Amino acid sequence: MTQFDYDLFVIGGGSGGVRAARLAGAMGKRVGLAEEYRMGGTCVIRGCVPKKLFVYASQYSEHFEDAPGYGWTVGETAFDWPTLIDAKDKEIARLEGLYRKGLENNGVTIHETRARLVSRHEILLEATGETVTADQILIAVGGRPNLHASLPGHEHCITSNGAFHLKEFPKAVVVEGGGYIAVEFANIFHGLGADTTLVYRGQKILGGFDEDLRDHLQETMIAKGIKVICHQVLDKVEKRPDGGLNAHLSGGEALAADQILLALGRVPNTEGLGLDHAGVETDSRGAITVDAWSRSSAGNIWAVGDVTNRMQLTPVAIHEAMCFLETAFKDNPTEPDYDTIATAVFSQPEIGTVGLTEAQAAHKYAELEVYRASFRPMHNILPGRDEKMLMKLIVDAESRVVVGAHIIGPGAGEMAQLLGISLKARCTKDDFDATMAVHPTAAEELVTMYAPTYRVKDGARID
Ligand code: NDP
Repeated sequence: MTQFDYDLFVIGGGSGGVRAARLAGAMGKRVGLAEEYRMGGTCVIRGCVPKKLFVYASQYSEHFEDAPGYGWTVGETAFDWPTLIDAKDKEIARLEGLYRKGLENNGVTIHETRARLVSRHEILLEATGETVTADQILIAVGGRPNLHASLPGHEHCITSNGAFHLKEFPKAVVVEGGGYIAVEFANIFHGLGADTTLVYRGQKILGGFDEDLRDHLQETMIAKGIKVICHQVLDKVEKRPDGGLNAHLSGGEALAADQILLALGRVPNTEGLGLDHAGVETDSRGAITVDAWSRSSAGNIWAVGDVTNRMQLTPVAIHEAMCFLETAFKDNPTEPDYDTIATAVFSQPEIGTVGLTEAQAAHKYAELEVYRASFRPMHNILPGRDEKMLMKLIVDAESRVVVGAHIIGPGAGEMAQLLGISLKARCTKDDFDATMAVHPTAAEELVTMYAPTYRVKDGARID
């Protein structure tokens, strides 16, 4: 008989926690998991999945606009927000059920409660007051939106959490932020018919992405009718007597809105977890500090996903969870691999990107070849839609390895997934050139850009 109730206790039923619990259960380990809200975490319940459903919904306005170009007459169209919310809620409930079933089928004991650490091996289940013990503990409690408490009137604003449950669809929306969430939601609200303004403190949205993608997206969003105000922040938010809101900007302008969405990054969910009782250290931002194997300062307590603030992406949390299992239970210490992670921004147009930006590559390599194509995707021609697609490959001139690939346009996220394999395998530009095109597709540009558009030598562009 072992001295603990569980071999593994997981706190948090999101992407990382569920994966670790399910696979540990499949290995025959005695596993418990506590989740205080709904199974699936941010990604399934109030993040990636419902967001993508909203993106699909918001694209219909352009599909209707484009339809006459292909001979279709579209009658009067109308959008009903409650219908979308209802359909989305049903799908999320279905997925939540699948997550739960996956745990149950692998013998994981689910505790529907908030849990907190009492010591290095004891966990208090708050709903029942029961204390359970575990040999190994995995903290996978994720993060939550930054509420920007220093903004006067922030309590009148919503975050992405609230955006999924609005009772009424807003006619006018102000979004603050320039990252993934701000950009995705600005496009969603605009596509669904709201008068949308995005306010960003920096010079250009999507800091950290390749400059061409940033320029292209910002210009396209403006051309679509989204107001983008840069170099400004919200100074104050006021509720008007009629129930609407006024967003006062640092530049002096006041914008009237029905909803103001703050998308200003996310903070790790570490408060009230009892970390100090177990000797688990956090950094200055409250994230659990872990070593390269996701082990915290308390040797038997591990952490994966957003609570560690390494890379806030669902597939990364899942990968970290799988590496944790190898390390903790299979005697195979495995470090998560963060090299060359492909990612997508579900803006409109969509972004797919993998590897180094041109600026990063120019810093790292003495000479680059940059292959760049900008063209109207075939679908846009008959409807007369002016929107262009942009593709860019960054090649280390010496080794010929493709070190960055950046796409903006329809299907960019799907392309990024496949390019991720090529870049991970360190394919060279010659491998790309030797690959037969799939015709007619947009993606064929990736294998038919034979001559560099320009070179970059010692950090400077040479044409
Ligand atoms: P991001 O870190 O992407 O962006 C935060 C934005 O808020 C930045 O533009 C930042 O500006 C700005 N900001 C931060 N603090 C302030 C402030 N006090 N005043 C004004 N502006 C401020 O965070 P998000 O909230 O958009 O998303 C969180 C994470 O979720 C992302 O990092 C991403 O990893 C993940 N995610 C991934 C998605 C995907 O894969 N498609 C979709 C959605 C989220 P600055 O640039 O100047 O720092």
